[in-house]
Amino acid sequence: MKIIYKLCCIIILLAIYNHGFAQKATDYTLDISKINQSEANLHIVCSFTIDFQARDSLSMRFGGNNTFSIDNLDIPEDSLFKYQYNPASQTIVFHKTKNKVVPVKMAYDYTNLSAFFIYGEGRAEIWETSFNEYYYPCIPNTCIDLHLNIEVPASLETICSYPIETISSTQYHCDLNRVLSQSLNFAFIQKNAYIHTIEEIPYRMDIYQISGMQCNKARYDELLELTQASVSYFSEIYGDSYLSAPRRISSYPIFLFHDGKGFSNRYNIGFISASQEKFSTYPNIYPLVHEIGHRWLGEWTLLIDDGEPGAYFIKESLNEFMTLMFLRHYYGEKLYRSLIEKYAQEYLQIKDTPQDEPFINIVENNNNIIVYNKGPLVLDWIAQEIGYENLTKTISQFYRENAGKYPLRYSDLIKLLNKTYPDKKALFEKYL
Ligand SMILES: [Zn+2]
Repeated sequence: MKIIYKLCCIIILLAIYNHGFAQKATDYTLDISKINQSEANLHIVCSFTIDFQARDSLSMRFGGNNTFSIDNLDIPEDSLFKYQYNPASQTIVFHKTKNKVVPVKMAYDYTNLSAFFIYGEGRAEIWETSFNEYYYPCIPNTCIDLHLNIEVPASLETICSYPIETISSTQYHCDLNRVLSQSLNFAFIQKNAYIHTIEEIPYRMDIYQISGMQCNKARYDELLELTQASVSYFSEIYGDSYLSAPRRISSYPIFLFHDGKGFSNRYNIGFISASQEKFSTYPNIYPLVHEIGHRWLGEWTLLIDDGEPGAYFIKESLNEFMTLMFLRHYYGEKLYRSLIEKYAQEYLQIKDTPQDEPFINIVENNNNIIVYNKGPLVLDWIAQEIGYENLTKTISQFYRENAGKYPLRYSDLIKLLNKTYPDKKALFEKYL
């Protein structure tokens, strides 16, 4: 008993140490300038206060490509701290010399080729940490208060993941309380290249389309209809409305359509970015419902790290299955079955090949068929056994219990399923 008591005390103390007294950066201000900066470049001035607590150093993620992302780094060192920037590991480490609490100010130029190649061709540039571009120093999966100032030339407009105040046509400001430190995203778009429309459906929705590439009226109306219907459906299923004060979500999705290629659809909290060409020409826009679904299930709420077993089943497959559940609810069983059948055909093409990997092996988003086809397919097989309503209820419970919690693991989902359906353990073991 004594040993168990001691162990418990140690675990509690460790938990307090890790969470209650963890070192942190506060008073965080980020000044971002696009003035006289070429495409995919920013000048950044960043200041914060470090509290080392009981430790001697604080490590933050910082930088992207190790040869060119950070230039002209200027951090006036004084007797209060030393620092070490490690481009290869994309980290900056601050070392304590005397005081526990020290102010830091740093200035640098940042080159982000992901922003350019993925979205580019010059008309939109999207800045996000998701492709390992830590364009400002941060401690991932912790919350910060952030003061953000953005300055752009008059030819650009800024769209941000969080509400920003427009100070003038070239200056923006925002104060954020307790946001996920790595979750700041924004887009710069060339004003004259975009057509901006505003709808009330009944809530305000902004849509930015590339001039000359806009969709037709039927497609535009489909976007309004599907957005409204899916937002209502997901709000009800998850018991958590789209707008959320605790998650700092204060407006309905802004859609930004760009001419980027490749893996281009993104949910960026305040705005959804996707390919203009696909939006205007593809047979359906169901992938945009998937992006809306990421408001609830995805990288900003389910904090499972890349590299963790099953990371992309948690971050993507669950949301794709719930997208299908919305389509089933909205259009009916027939459409749903035809989509599931397509997913099954896709999966059959790689079945029993080396690409047919178990979900736990997918630790990066590098196997589309397993993540986006086999994942929902297997969830469909499970739903056939336990009931569709039951499975969506359990996924909803998983969201409510785990949103914003770090760390999260694939095994947390399996545990919840086993606990909820103890007589189906063999089924989950076989498929998941
Ligand atoms: Zn996704």
